[in-house]
Amino acid sequence: MGKIGLTTTIPVEVILAAGRTPVDLNNILISSTNPGEKVEAAEVAGYPRNVCGWIKGLYTVANELEDLEGVIAVTQGDCSNTHALMETLELAGIQTIPFAYPYDRDRDLLKLQIEKLMAYFGVSWKQVNEIKQELDRIRRKVLQIDRLTWEMGLVSGFENHLFQVSCSDFEGDWVKFERKVDRFLEELSERPSSAGLIRLGYIGVPPIVLDLYDYLETIGARVVFNEVQRQFVMPHLAEDLVEQYLLYTYPYNIFGRLKDIEEQIRLRRLAGIIHYTQSFCFRQIEDLIVRKTLELPILSLEGDKPSRLDARSRLRIDAFIDILR
Ligand code: SF4
Repeated sequence: MGKIGLTTTIPVEVILAAGRTPVDLNNILISSTNPGEKVEAAEVAGYPRNVCGWIKGLYTVANELEDLEGVIAVTQGDCSNTHALMETLELAGIQTIPFAYPYDRDRDLLKLQIEKLMAYFGVSWKQVNEIKQELDRIRRKVLQIDRLTWEMGLVSGFENHLFQVSCSDFEGDWVKFERKVDRFLEELSERPSSAGLIRLGYIGVPPIVLDLYDYLETIGARVVFNEVQRQFVMPHLAEDLVEQYLLYTYPYNIFGRLKDIEEQIRLRRLAGIIHYTQSFCFRQIEDLIVRKTLELPILSLEGDKPSRLDARSRLRIDAFIDILR
């Protein structure tokens, strides 16, 4: 059975019920040994310089991936660049499969979209719900890792990011992934707490910058809330699959996200927020809404290509952490 490429989180239960292997192209890009070269390869193929680095990297990853049967094209609720990305993939001979999150969170429309995806893959609600039971068990364990991050100080900001972001595709093999999660939880039972670091929230799309979390820890701060990554875990764990993807905040408007962020700021006693935005991303506009809404210190940070933090960003982070001390 082939691989199905994902550019963002979708109802992955459908893909797994169909016996296919979901592959989050973002995770493949950022964990590759040469993500910067993949971005450059897309520019060589003709992608403009002033387009988001993630999009360019995804284009190269999709073209390089073996056994790729198709890519799910999320035409609404993710990225304004997806249309053109999918068109260029189609031109390269890659099958695209459409899926859309309704902007107004309409339940019937979302159900229809999920059922269209199920019809494409030829799976029933019974099969999809059986997979959901399996995934929910793993999601609960990953949510436990998240809890051990902010309540006990046992998990680094990067580890928190990595386990949660992996729940978009369960690393293509949920059985293996669950074993990895179990091993990590076991390891945590012997780990000393690092409570006492400045508690930060990270909001926005996952960073293309490779050493942000580690750098923060070297200067005495830790991310104890990864907003979008936590959403990939489906923290509400609704019984009903459609309800689950309605409660998932990322694909809908920013105000639902802000409500979730405000709740977590209070719960996790955050001292400040890093709002990460990607160069050339339409979501940069939302920074002004974030700044007007949230009532705690915010550092807006921008990343472009996969690389380490540049000197200017490090200086700005240092100054921000000094203010919070
Ligand atoms: S960072 Fe923005 S432009 Fe880039 S893929 Fe994500 S949503 Fe699209």
